[in-house]
Amino acid sequence: MPNIPVINIGDILELKKPHPCGSKTFTVSRVGSDIKLTCTGCGRALMLDRIKVEKMIKKIIHAEKNDE
Ligand SMILES: [Zn+2]
Repeated sequence: MPNIPVINIGDILELKKPHPCGSKTFTVSRVGSDIKLTCTGCGRALMLDRIKVEKMIKKIIHAEKNDE
């Protein structure tokens, strides 16, 4: 069974490949068939295919839930 990562809005993804600015962490701002990420280093937004993102993830830092 493939291990499909759970990605939620507000999570921070650490990717295997860094952004050109040098940052490897990105905040998730939209989740669908595409995932919108905002670079935590330079603040630029990028849209990537979900499948591509899943392959690039090194680590997911889940956002803290306030409603628990
Ligand atoms: Zn950047």
